[in-house]
Amino acid sequence: MSFEDVAYWTDRIIASALRNLAAEWHFLTIMGIAFALSLFMDLWRRRNLRERYLSRNFRVDLTYAGLDLAHVPHFFILVPLGTLLAGWLKANAAWMEIEAASSLPLGAQLLLAFLLLDFWVYWWHRLQHFSSVFWQFHKTHHSQEVLNPLTVFRITVIDRIIMLLVFALPPVILDIRFEYPLAMLMLIQLHQLIIHSDTGWNFGPLEKIFISPSYHEVHHSIAPEHRDRNFGGALVIWDHLFGTYAERSKDRLEYGLVGERIPESYLRQFFVPIAGLFALARVRFFSSRQTEPEIDRQVAA
Ligand SMILES: [Zn+2]
Ligand SMILES: [Zn+2]
Repeated sequence: MSFEDVAYWTDRIIASALRNLAAEWHFLTIMGIAFALSLFMDLWRRRNLRERYLSRNFRVDLTYAGLDLAHVPHFFILVPLGTLLAGWLKANAAWMEIEAASSLPLGAQLLLAFLLLDFWVYWWHRLQHFSSVFWQFHKTHHSQEVLNPLTVFRITVIDRIIMLLVFALPPVILDIRFEYPLAMLMLIQLHQLIIHSDTGWNFGPLEKIFISPSYHEVHHSIAPEHRDRNFGGALVIWDHLFGTYAERSKDRLEYGLVGERIPESYLRQFFVPIAGLFALARVRFFSSRQTEPEIDRQVAA
């Protein structure tokens, strides 16, 4: 890599960091709104706030969110890696681009990008649940038993790196604008926070189109009938189309992992995917007599 390359990428990384910082207060406001809503519902339902917000579980989510808001994973890993990856794809994988999409009006490009990404999110999320390898990366997000808006941040750095690799492809393939306007980004952020709020809110008539807290909480539920259901990110259509939709019952939901436990600590969760992969490999390659379900149960143990 030449000096010009390094200077170019450094410039891009700094520009991206500054853009993030400028947008900061918007996201803090959004978090405030999501939290106020969540808290309002907690008070409404007379939940024990001490149990909820002074729990170790909540503190771990707070660590994830704090590091995220301080952009620690972004500055050191995700932005440099992402810019390098995007540059590499642009230079070496130009054959994947569908030229026609970039000539569409901006609104159409944004809509197309949104639909494509949401479709991509659905399948990627489904793969994370059905492949025991990818599950090792995703299970940390599901380990939260006290679901709250900050649970959206409970994703390990390793999982984020993989997501970055997976989600870098659609923009390159379509060669369209994926830089959503700020208002749209804020709305997406608010949506992601709210759907983890454990409020059971179903968005009324909009429930037919958009994923609501009620909908995503089913995805986190440990009830057998909710297992591996409701994978969608923003739109409900994919789960209906591909047969993975489950309706919510009136019962109060319980959340967390089924048949396995992971440590409730930010640092130890960092190594969960690595430990999980080692356990998988050990069972797969060194014990020949076992069948698949037995393997999964052992890894889960
Ligand atoms: Zn999931
Ligand atoms: Zn979730």
